[in-house]
Amino acid sequence: MTLHAGCRETTTYIPAINDLAARAMPKPVVDLDKCTGCGTCASSCPQGVLEVKEGKAQVVNPDACIGCRVCESVCPAGAIKVTD
Ligand code: SF4
Ligand code: SF4
Repeated sequence: MTLHAGCRETTTYIPAINDLAARAMPKPVVDLDKCTGCGTCASSCPQGVLEVKEGKAQVVNPDACIGCRVCESVCPAGAIKVTD
């Protein structure tokens, strides 16, 4: 198949743009060594991103994170960092 020059550019750039978008998405990262499993982050997150499973906070819905950093500020153990 012969691609129009613009199509070749599109097929090159779209994965790159998607990759950049994925990297720009905020996500919480839990330090499992610090996490006590108290559940404060999970109950405070307005997006249902976090759940406590097997005694530790887990990121169960990362794409829903809006980067509000509530989880970071409420965690009494300082176990969550939100990446941009
Ligand atoms: S608030 Fe902090 S210590 Fe409590 S479950 Fe969440 S990450 Fe773990
Ligand atoms: S930054 Fe906000 S939306 Fe994202 S996990 Fe933390 S509390 Fe939830």
